[in-house]
Amino acid sequence: MKKSLQRKYAKLLIKQGVNIQKGQQLNIRADIEAAEFVTLLAEEAYRAGAGKVRVDWSSTELTKLSYRHRTMKSLCDIPAWEIEKAKLDSEILPAQIRLICEDPDGLAKVNQEKVSRATIAANKVLKPFRDAMDNKNQWLVCAIPGKAWAKKVFPKDRTSVAVEKLWKAILSTVMCDDETDCIAAWDNKNKTFKEKCDWLNKQQFDYLHYKSANGTDFKCELMKESLWCGGGEYTLGGVYYNPNMPTEEIFTTPMKGKCEGRLVSSMPLSSRGTLIENFYIDFENGKAVSWHAEKGEEALGKLISTDEGSCMLGELALVPTDSPISQSGLLYYNTLFDENASCHVALGSGYTGCVKGFENMSFDELCEKGVNDSMIHVDFMIGTEDMCITGYKDGKATPIFVNGKWAE
Ligand code: ZN
Ligand code: ZN
Repeated sequence: MKKSLQRKYAKLLIKQGVNIQKGQQLNIRADIEAAEFVTLLAEEAYRAGAGKVRVDWSSTELTKLSYRHRTMKSLCDIPAWEIEKAKLDSEILPAQIRLICEDPDGLAKVNQEKVSRATIAANKVLKPFRDAMDNKNQWLVCAIPGKAWAKKVFPKDRTSVAVEKLWKAILSTVMCDDETDCIAAWDNKNKTFKEKCDWLNKQQFDYLHYKSANGTDFKCELMKESLWCGGGEYTLGGVYYNPNMPTEEIFTTPMKGKCEGRLVSSMPLSSRGTLIENFYIDFENGKAVSWHAEKGEEALGKLISTDEGSCMLGELALVPTDSPISQSGLLYYNTLFDENASCHVALGSGYTGCVKGFENMSFDELCEKGVNDSMIHVDFMIGTEDMCITGYKDGKATPIFVNGKWAE
């Protein structure tokens, strides 16, 4: 991809994405394959006034080696400096960018037990610091193509062609091309999101009912305080930013422990390197009680039983089948993109920012209200061309989605 467009994209991520503030630190997490673009990002961040840019590099190859050769004890031993680093972040509140470019299957062949236990060990000591930053700093998940990833999305093309095609696909999802004033285009998009959210929030639905011919028949209660969000958001300090680029979803946090029925997947789910395909999950009293997958059933079971909260839902998201990502028909093998092709739900932690009055509640109070808490948050797709979603308030039905699209 030509440099001028890459720079335009970097500027979009810095200004409309994290909206870096004068003197604020920016942390970037990226694979070494993205080094060139990360340099561009850092340059644009400094131009926009960043006080310091810190990059936490990773490398799929090194990560693989580390899982292969280190003992479980060594992997689960989180050094004091890692904890200090997380603590420092929770105090200085840097803006954070997670730049994706790596192979979605990069860690497929490593021992999943090791990955899962090491993740749990790290979460145990680091999660409290992340929870403490909740809603306080700007963050952004975004992507550029890596070679292995591009080959997976476009397997028939030469690597260089595949990379260029994935660049084009990614840039089109964020409205970045030579002609478009992409910052203005995002302002517009955010306005449309706000109108939809305002409508949903006015309805104050008690519960939603999902129905689709593939077998989905599912009811999920909302909290009285559930807020629908989408597009840009504000930090508690009042900085407006876009946490996901691209994004097409409008989402909320449901009432944990209050859903019934069957959800049938409409797209494969890539979890810790395993592809889970054609599955359904049955819920009773808000908990996943039984499930079946044609492929990857064991991985699905592991995911659901990660911890106490991983069998409950933390997100309901609405995405119409006429969204640009859905229309592109591409499978990206990455949630940042694929979740924007379909209505979905997430197993695991809820969004505390999707609760009315969250600014005056502690994390524990929010969980008591009904926000689910878990170490995982994993989206899976349930949207179909014939999906109908109806909202109920005091017994009165209002269509939200009809045949996969917004009812109005
Ligand atoms: Zn989502
Ligand atoms: Zn999600």
